[in-house]
Amino acid sequence: MSTGAGAAETRLGISAVIPAYNEAESLPELIREMIPALEGLGRPWEILIVDDGSRDGTDRALAVLAAADRRVRGVSLRQNFGKSAALATGFRLARGEWIVTLDADLQDDPAELSKLVAALEGGLDLVSGWKRHRRDPITKTVPSRLFNAVTSRVAGIRLHDFNCGFKLYRREVAESLEIYGELHRFVPALAHWRGFRVGEVPVRHRPRRYGKSKFGAARFVNGFLDLISAAFISTSGLKPLHVFGRIGLGFLASGFAIGAWFVAQWIAGEPMRVRPLMLFGAGLALVGFQFILMGLLGEMIAHLGAGVEYPVRQRYNLDRER
Ligand code: UDP
Ligand code: MG
Repeated sequence: MSTGAGAAETRLGISAVIPAYNEAESLPELIREMIPALEGLGRPWEILIVDDGSRDGTDRALAVLAAADRRVRGVSLRQNFGKSAALATGFRLARGEWIVTLDADLQDDPAELSKLVAALEGGLDLVSGWKRHRRDPITKTVPSRLFNAVTSRVAGIRLHDFNCGFKLYRREVAESLEIYGELHRFVPALAHWRGFRVGEVPVRHRPRRYGKSKFGAARFVNGFLDLISAAFISTSGLKPLHVFGRIGLGFLASGFAIGAWFVAQWIAGEPMRVRPLMLFGAGLALVGFQFILMGLLGEMIAHLGAGVEYPVRQRYNLDRER
């Protein structure tokens, strides 16, 4: 992302990014609660609402709120692109040095913001809320425990609640993450893998009052599939041939060893006959070859994505523009 001098001048203290899909009823109350919470921090703020292609008049509610207070801003996306897309859009528009995200449905309590701020000031780069007493149906809370346990294992960072909508980011964290698809569930893992300091703080959670939840049971299947892809891309995506090539070489070598054994027998005078093991060896060699090609394809894709900016912790005799 470019950070010209112009952008730096308009930097604010904190931006609140709120993804909203069919949340027209909740928005006015949310803004009423948000304003005192932001004022309490004593830094210039803005609220950025991203209407994610709603069809319930969220856009009209947003227009009314924006007209009443210039610090309330936002966009309406043309389509429902999903929570990750809404967050990514908000990050792109946000001007704050800090960015707080929260759900639009009033389940997150804005009064808890000061706790997140204290943890960030205590030295974290990303503070994630932890819905300790979660006010959701049991069909959500039980699978979510399992989800968090597995994600903790894979991510290598122990958190109780990866997918809490209430999070406070230092700007560089939000700039450095690329969330698309449904990767918003793994933000703490993605940030941890990039070397940011990540922690969590228990926050009050409230039952949904208006509208309904946007995520059904499919979320858990999708969640586990996304975990595999997130883990792969973040940890091995930059060296695909090392992963696929290793597997491929293993297959290829076993296939060759089996073939060599048959050739040796043939040289020793045995007649060459097709045997099940021989077919198996040929299969192994073929699959191994395919794996290596797949790794090479991966290398070509990784090459296209090269040139990413790696997050920096400290600068020495270098200003922010370098
Ligand atoms: N959301 C969104 N786009 C979507 C689905 C959800 O912006 O396609 C927003 C939604 O309006 C809410 C937040 O994401 O502010 C969390 O959604 P929800 O409350 O339905 O999730 P749950 O609390 O059930 O996990
Ligand atoms: Mg909710």
